[in-house]
Formats: sequence, structure tokens, C-alpha cells
Amino acid sequence: MKLYEYMAKGVLRENGVPVPPGRLARTPEEAEAAARSLGPCVVKAQVLVGGRGKAGGVKPAQTPEEARSRAGEILGMNLKGCVVETVYVESMLGIDRELYLGITMDNAAKRPLLIASASGGMEIEEVPERAIVRQPVPVEWGLMPYATRWVAHRLGLSGDLARQFGEIALKLYEIFRRYDAELVEINPLAVAGDRLVAADARLNVDDDALYRHPDLPRTSEATELEKRVRELGLAYVELDGDIAVMANGAGITMATLDVLQRYGGRPMNFLDAGGGAAAGPMAEALKVLVSTRPKAIFVNIFGGITRCDDVAQAVITARREVGISMPMVVRLVGTNEEKGVEMLRGEGIQAYRSMEEAAARAVELARAGEGVEG
Ligand code: GDP
Ligand code: MN
Repeated sequence: MKLYEYMAKGVLRENGVPVPPGRLARTPEEAEAAARSLGPCVVKAQVLVGGRGKAGGVKPAQTPEEARSRAGEILGMNLKGCVVETVYVESMLGIDRELYLGITMDNAAKRPLLIASASGGMEIEEVPERAIVRQPVPVEWGLMPYATRWVAHRLGLSGDLARQFGEIALKLYEIFRRYDAELVEINPLAVAGDRLVAADARLNVDDDALYRHPDLPRTSEATELEKRVRELGLAYVELDGDIAVMANGAGITMATLDVLQRYGGRPMNFLDAGGGAAAGPMAEALKVLVSTRPKAIFVNIFGGITRCDDVAQAVITARREVGISMPMVVRLVGTNEEKGVEMLRGEGIQAYRSMEEAAARAVELARAGEGVEG
């Protein structure tokens, strides 16, 4: 789970890492009020994607009126598929230099890794390898003060800045461990006069450890539609092709995506009805797939606990209730197969037995429907 910048900064602040004062705003008026109490500020889009600065989601404002205008520009903006609903208005820093500091899990080495650079900020992706300092952390001992001093030295920091850097790195490591983080990152870690301040923050927590952190706020990257389908107890993920997919079980769902790709098709989304879904929720799920207006729908079922007649019933119900205007290909084998196939035949739908054949047909129909209003 990713936390929004303002939430991550809340955690940093509680744990003693210096962050600028800031306030959350949902409207331009709230941003103006925030700026009135903060002075010159930066208005920052709160979305769960990086690179906001380059995309126009971070803007300075000298006056409250300016903060209102900037918030007006940023609120409602679409940043890499995320619509901005809140901005964080933060006291402006006079930034002299931008460092990078992050801690992540090095999965190959099976231990935490501290990463730092003297050239942080928005161009972090362009920083050459030799300008990046990597300090593995032996998890039995944790991050040792001498290791942070060595990193500070390699970043060219000395005196009090080096001391502050060491303190921040140790606190960041404490946060990393305490919150079962996959990543905790400060970019830029700003040198502002004689102080180091976290100008931006990220905190990604391991989903499997969330139950240990009831104190943390919850966020979700799911789209509205994804949330709606998940409420039906089904797994649904949006992709960017044009064939909607319904299958039952994670393995067969992934295989369905692969086989479509192999025949030159592009999945638009997929819905994993799981094992043993009832006809009712499956029909609701199919209706959702129809509403995404794909070029074709591919239903791929290997009936084990899921019964083929329930799947057939779901298809029939969805057709009756909303109509299915786009081509649909159904592959149906397994438990109660004959009954399911028979039910579909009664509706004029021919079910396939072979997954390859069915996938090839779905791709063909999606192509034929290209450019045609569905
Ligand atoms: P990101 O692009 O999503 O990583 O967003 P950041 O919060 O890192 O902001 C992008 C850039 O805006 C930073 O690299 C800074 O150069 C600049 N920036 C952010 N906050 C401040 C601030 O308080 N003062 C100044 N002068 N610049 C800031
Ligand atoms: Mn940043």
C-alpha cells in the first residue's frame, strides 16, 4: 500500500524527521486559507504516482491568491491516470541543494538497502550509477551510526549537515522497520541553509503486514469500477487493450491473457470470478464488462468448483438484463459442461472446448469490430 505524500510526511514528522509545515486542501478556497497561515508556499497534487513535478502537479505560490489559482489549476488535473482530488499546501523552502535518500528491500540479497545520492530531485532517474551510494544494511544489527557517517562522507557532506544526515537516515530506518515498509524515500532531501528537510516523502507498506498497522491510514489505487467489482467479491483489473476477459481462478486468468496476446489480441481488463462464484455475482460482473464497451468479450471457464451451468446462467441473465451488443466468445469445459453448453445453445451461443481456438476467435471478432460502434 502506498501512502500519499502528506500521510508519509505525517509518519516522518511523528518519528522526528524534519518536514515543512503544511495543510491539506480540497478546494482552491481551502488552499488560499492554508497559504494565509503558511506564507509563501508550494501547492502539491496528492496522487499515488511519482513525477508530479514534471507533470505540472507541483507549483509555487507567493501569495494566498496565487495559492488559490495554482490549486484551481491542479485540482481535477489528470496525472498519469489519477485525478487530483486534494492538494497539500506546504510552506516554501529556500532549497540550496537536493539530495536523495531512500531505504528499500533488496530482494536478491534479502536485506534492506540504503540508497543515497548527492544529486536528488526530479532528475533522479538520470543520475549516473557512480553518483549513487548503496549501503546494504545487515538486518541482525540494523543501520549503524558509523555506516550513516560513511554514506554522508561519500555524499560530500561534512560538519553539522553530515550529523543531521546521519540522524535522518537512522530515523528513516526505524520507520522502515516499524512500518514493514517496502520503500521509504525522501526525494528531494533538501539542503535549506544549514538545515536538512524532507521536501517530498514516500512510504510504501507491505500489504501482507497491514494488519499489524491499524494506526496507518488506508489508501487504494483501484479505479471506481475496480472498487465496484471487488465489492461483488471478484477480482477485477483494468488494462489498456480492447478485449474484456472473464475467467475463473488466478492461473487460468493469467493464461487467458497470455493466449490472447499470443494470437495478437490485447486484453482490456480481466475479471477473475474465482472458484465457485454463483451465477448472480457472475452475471453482475459480466454486466460490468459490457459497460466497459470492449470490442469483444472472452469468457474462459474451466469448471471445477465453478459449475458450467452457473456460468451459462450468468451469461443468459446478463444478456437479458442489459443486452450484449459486442461479440462474445465462451469457452466452457468441466463440471456440468453438457448442461451449460446446452443452455447456451438454446440462446444461440456456441461454446468452445479448446481455449486456443476460442481465443483466436475472440481476437478475430475484436479485429472485425474495430472502428465499428459497439
Ligand atoms: P515529485 O516530482 O512527484 O517527486 O514531487 P516533489 O515533491 O519532489 O516536487 C518536485 C520538485 O519541486 C522538487 O524536486 C523540488 O525541486 C521542488 N519543490 C518541492 N517542494 C519545494 C519547496 O518547498 N520549495 C522549493 N523551492 N521547491 C520545492
Ligand atoms: Mn519527489
